[in-house]
Amino acid sequence: MRPIIVWFRRDLRIDDNTALYHASKTSAPVVPLFIFDTELIKRLPSDGAAFDFQADALRELKQSIATLGGNLILRHGKVLDVHKWIIQELQPSALFINRDYEPYAIERDAQVAKLYQSNGIEVKTFKDIVLQEPHEVLTGEGRPYVVFTPFANTWKRLPTPPPLGKPAVFRTPDMTSGGILGATELKKSVRIPEPAFKGGESEARKMWKAFLSRRISEYESGRNTPGIDGTSRMSPYLRFGCVSVRRLANDCRSLQNSLSKGEATLGASIGKYIDELIWREFYQSVLFHFPRLLDSNYRQEFDRMPWKFNEKLFEAWKKGRTGFPLVDAGMRELNRTGWMHNRVRMVVASFLTKDMMHDWRLGEKYFEEKLMDIETASNNGGWQWAASTGVDPRPLRIFNPRLQAERFDPDGAYIKHYVPELKGVPVKFIHAPHEMTPMEQNECGMIVGKDYPEPIVDHASASAAYKKGFSQMKQKT
Ligand code: FAD
Repeated sequence: MRPIIVWFRRDLRIDDNTALYHASKTSAPVVPLFIFDTELIKRLPSDGAAFDFQADALRELKQSIATLGGNLILRHGKVLDVHKWIIQELQPSALFINRDYEPYAIERDAQVAKLYQSNGIEVKTFKDIVLQEPHEVLTGEGRPYVVFTPFANTWKRLPTPPPLGKPAVFRTPDMTSGGILGATELKKSVRIPEPAFKGGESEARKMWKAFLSRRISEYESGRNTPGIDGTSRMSPYLRFGCVSVRRLANDCRSLQNSLSKGEATLGASIGKYIDELIWREFYQSVLFHFPRLLDSNYRQEFDRMPWKFNEKLFEAWKKGRTGFPLVDAGMRELNRTGWMHNRVRMVVASFLTKDMMHDWRLGEKYFEEKLMDIETASNNGGWQWAASTGVDPRPLRIFNPRLQAERFDPDGAYIKHYVPELKGVPVKFIHAPHEMTPMEQNECGMIVGKDYPEPIVDHASASAAYKKGFSQMKQKT
């Protein structure tokens, strides 16, 4: 019997994997395939830590597939070349894939589908990485939404698909399986010294269970506090597909349905968590419908924005040496662990684009290099939101980094964790250490200008300069 090829990409799990599930339910042999796509790897600026995460996820996937009776086949090369080889060697009856909505993937998958179809081989694609696909959440006139709330309202009216569960056992034809390549083999340097995550389905499951059983109850109140473990940290697992978004949503709904009347806070937290999953799908939809956003402003008047560039300031931002403790803590968390808390992502992005008036694309690119959860649609959406160039913007939203710090890290726990030179600074000054007198600085053993930088900009005049640039841009438009 001719085999079915299940091509894994960003769905590195066996639980509730739509393409694998359906292939396993046929009586045909199944070839689970993963390709280290040389073209994609060349384009990706990601740190080696993300490739090691992927390698961990693949190791576990290989073992899980073996428990089903199959064998994960790994190949390294150009995607089209590998598929040509597969077609020639195995003469498969079908190719099964889970749909991916990012511009590079759409083009790649179209070429691969054409190759199979021109050889008379069926190509079946499935909804898997989102709960609602970009073409399913549209306005009454059939247009894409560019504002989150109406998108979310329509999204919530659609039925949530339930998880499919584990695939059936299957057999893979005899063939060499190929090696799993991590950062070293792919010649990617690992600059993240303490990666925050280990890849794999079981790791994702463990972290999800811990969040669901305890932290989700405090999610609504705790999700904006970077000093506590208040969020799910599911982002890299969703990115690489070590966990199914259907599983997350379904667990949330089951918990919601089991609540009694006195558990309104928990109910609100679960609702808020689902809203965050919808943000992910909102940005997937926006990029799908407006692929030009990959490198351009959604609001085209911003093409005339007089962005500045100062290499010294940009380096200070990247290294976490701006003299604004919350910004510095965020950038150091990113550099050290490959992850950053969402609230702080918004603060550092606002700081780069509004206080420093640097083009959002510079920050987006730096995040691409460092984040282990790098998701093109969410990263682009988050940056354009912060820069006010994107969909759903309020143009003159300028975060005050000091007020943000006072509100969300009041005792400086997060700051002190990532900016150790500020450990001895009294809470009264933790958000503005430069306001200490020389004697106070001496007393806490931290000298501004020597141990920790002076603020690199004055927030009030920087905001005024941004507003001026913004109104100039408006006039030109
Ligand atoms: P939780 O609060 O537990 O949320 C659960 C899940 O919901 C997340 O894992 C994520 O999949 C989704 N989610 C939450 N908030 C958002 C959001 N604002 N936009 C889209 N999805 C969201 N997220 C990425 O996954 N990859 C990125 O590359 C990325 N870049 C960002 C860049 C900027 C400038 C900003 C402001 C945000 C970015 N985000 C990105 C969104 C958000 O910061 C992360 O998803 C979140 O911090 C991940 O942590 P968590 O899993 O603990 O989140």
